[in-house]
Amino acid sequence: MNKPHIAIIGGGCAGLSAAATLVDHGFPVTIFESSSQLGGRARSVQIKNNGIHLLDNGQHILLGAYSATLALLHKIGLDEKQVFLRLPLQISMRGCDENIVFSLKSVSYLPAPFDMLFALLRCKGLSLVERIAAIKLMAKVKNSHYQIDDDCPLEYFLIKHQQTKHLITMLWEPLCLAALNTPIAMASTSIFLNALNDSFSKKGCSKGKKNSDFLLPKLDLSKIIAQPLTKYITARGAEIKLNRQVLSLIPNADGFNLETRDGQSFFSHVIIATPATSLDKLISSCQKLKTVLTQIQNYSYQPIYTVYLQYPVTTQLPDVMAGLSNTLGQWVFDKGQLCKQNGLIAVVISGSGRHQALTHEQLALQVAEELQQVFPDMPKSLWCKVIAEKRATFSCTPNLARPNNKTLQQNLYLAGDYTYAYYPATIEGAIRSGINCANLIADSYRLAS
Ligand SMILES: Cc1cc2nc3c(=O)[nH]c(=O)nc-3n(C[C@H](O)[C@H](O)[C@H](O)COP(=O)(O)OP(=O)(O)OC[C@H]3O[C@@H](n4cnc5c(N)ncnc54)[C@H](O)[C@@H]3O)c2cc1C
Repeated sequence: MNKPHIAIIGGGCAGLSAAATLVDHGFPVTIFESSSQLGGRARSVQIKNNGIHLLDNGQHILLGAYSATLALLHKIGLDEKQVFLRLPLQISMRGCDENIVFSLKSVSYLPAPFDMLFALLRCKGLSLVERIAAIKLMAKVKNSHYQIDDDCPLEYFLIKHQQTKHLITMLWEPLCLAALNTPIAMASTSIFLNALNDSFSKKGCSKGKKNSDFLLPKLDLSKIIAQPLTKYITARGAEIKLNRQVLSLIPNADGFNLETRDGQSFFSHVIIATPATSLDKLISSCQKLKTVLTQIQNYSYQPIYTVYLQYPVTTQLPDVMAGLSNTLGQWVFDKGQLCKQNGLIAVVISGSGRHQALTHEQLALQVAEELQQVFPDMPKSLWCKVIAEKRATFSCTPNLARPNNKTLQQNLYLAGDYTYAYYPATIEGAIRSGINCANLIADSYRLAS
């Protein structure tokens, strides 16, 4: 059997991780990326605004449970301590005048999940009855191995398990939005429980490290993901074609012809690592993928807005990260404490909502006013920039059909966050899907030769 030449369409986390695995197996790889940079939805962008600034397209948080991501970054030579700030799970919600209206912090000296149960017992901002209700629910889902028989919207599940409105608003809703980027009324309970399961399992934990830890990037995202992965794969012979949108994919007896504006090129295997939104055009000529087309046509999408506000460089928040209560803004990050971008504050709004009806100027103004109410010492901002990712993630709804990595079309594979059925749209899901596609190709080659 001739050595395969593999085309990867899309250079986000899924495509890059597939490439990094394939080059390890010694396969020739070509990545086609429609935009002028790699990284996809996890990248940094240059913004011209009172000078040139490098901003992430959105604040990303990784979890200690992201084992495939951490292993991949380790493989390509990144030192976790240099690129991430690792914090024990903590939620601190602030209201007006810096008041902490809710706070929960995992305790380092207890193993999971007892750390979370204890944290719930002593958290601030919930009545004793509410804390007990939350603990009972955690114990119940743990006993049922974080599985339910019939998936349903998370809000329905929580109400059914005696979680009060206040408890949902303070604890479960922020967790659901952060993890699934889907409003709680339509979010999948099963996938939310998968995220809890991984966060509170002890698997793979080492001293001082827990799966529920937050990992906050200390460098801009492209320096953590796209740039080191590019270096790794090109050093091993991979070819990268930027600004090369693949227009169509035509299967033939031996492989596939890929059509770009430069003409057609032939590959024996193809991994499509685009978001589901780009898939329909690419697979329209593959009769065997009709079911996949039907599945993804039912997807809906959720936005993530990031409002960047630059303050004088001496401006600091009390914490690197805080939740905001009763405001449009949901989470606030001090990029000075995180990435030495002093005075830069990032406010994140996940999921759909009334902020989408505002212009970017109106939104930035309102968020700046909210910050002033929460942190009264905040000076006037110098400039602002709103980055709106309108289709940031697929809506992670109950019983959502997720296509397999291996398709019915021989030698055609699908990677991308939407194909990793256990997780919502995450870097970890994307990376796992990419690695899985690459290993499937390596296995099939080994079997055939
Ligand atoms: C603002 C924001 C915040 C987020 N926060 C988090 C977080 O905190 N934690 C977390 O784990 N995840 C987070 N996510 C989700 C995470 O970024 C994504 O799940 C992940 O990056 C998806 O990777 P992917 O490779 O599957 O897809 P993508 O990153 O979308 O990559 C697909 C690539 O394919 C390219 N492409 C598309 N069509 C074609 C074509 N026809 N030809 C060639 N190239 C094509 C695209 O340009 C893109 O580069 C966030 C996402 C956003 C947008």
